[in-house]
Amino acid sequence: MSTASQAMVFREARKPLTSESREFARPGDHEICVRVLACAACRTDLHVQDAELENVPYPIVPGHQVVGEVVASGGGAHFSPGDRVGVTWLAWACERCPACERGEENLCPKAKFTGYHRDGGFAEHVIADSRFCLPLDPGLDPVATTPLLCAGLIGYRSFRMAGDAERIGIYGFGSAAHLITQVAVAGGREIHAFTRAGDTRAQSFAREMGASWAGDSETPASQPLDAALIFAPVGSLVPKALRDVRPGGRVVCGGIHMSDIPSFPYSDLWGERRIQSVANLTRQDGHDFMRVASGLDLRPSTTCYDLLDANRALDDLRAGNLEGTAVLVPNSG
Ligand SMILES: [Zn+2]
Ligand SMILES: [Zn+2]
Repeated sequence: MSTASQAMVFREARKPLTSESREFARPGDHEICVRVLACAACRTDLHVQDAELENVPYPIVPGHQVVGEVVASGGGAHFSPGDRVGVTWLAWACERCPACERGEENLCPKAKFTGYHRDGGFAEHVIADSRFCLPLDPGLDPVATTPLLCAGLIGYRSFRMAGDAERIGIYGFGSAAHLITQVAVAGGREIHAFTRAGDTRAQSFAREMGASWAGDSETPASQPLDAALIFAPVGSLVPKALRDVRPGGRVVCGGIHMSDIPSFPYSDLWGERRIQSVANLTRQDGHDFMRVASGLDLRPSTTCYDLLDANRALDDLRAGNLEGTAVLVPNSG
């Protein structure tokens, strides 16, 4: 198979995407060629644009929340043409190192990530290693499913790190937060949403999604929190969140990149408070979260853009000019 296909490419750091027409080669062993039905944008795509991740191999096509249909499969591939799949952030792990053997393939030092090390889904087609793709029910709406594949998955992994916390603070109310608020509230937890100061739109969105309180991130929590989930890439939120959680409480940082954390007195950490990060995701996270999501009536909030409008989608994401998740749809303009 040889197909001319449109892709949006970061040719170099700190520059907008450029549109390219590319020829797709036949998928190799274990690989599939996926026709992209929809691909959501994530803050990580901005970190790729800004070269805030190490050694981004420009030129690169970003995008790691892909819902698509298999159009060709290589030798030994797990899927066949016509199958509906999700292509997520974890593109490949070695399956041999100590981390992989412990079941922590998200920490594999050789892991490759979609839209960072391998071309991603800001394109009409993407080639993916089928062993790392998620089977999807063809009845699911492609646009509404895309935010589940990173925002939902990373949010869910972060939420699970909070253990059985009942009162949970969420700092930064975007794509991950709006999904996890729905999951948490369905499970009987209480959500306090902290947003940029004065962002009343995000605050009312948080209340619509089920948060029992929403306000500015500088405001101290009205009652001590059992856990805090930080999705905003703002290091100064870490000491703030530590002051908001009770003794024994956890502060979970869900982003891949964060500005430096300012120093803070040891007394803020004292009382067995914990800080931890969440790194990437495993295939098991994908299966677990899709099962949880299918049992809930999740309402992902999305704003669609044509693939060729990807720069506008990223600009809106950066400026906080949209609710929920920006989703690119090829040939919708
Ligand atoms: Zn992501
Ligand atoms: Zn490994």
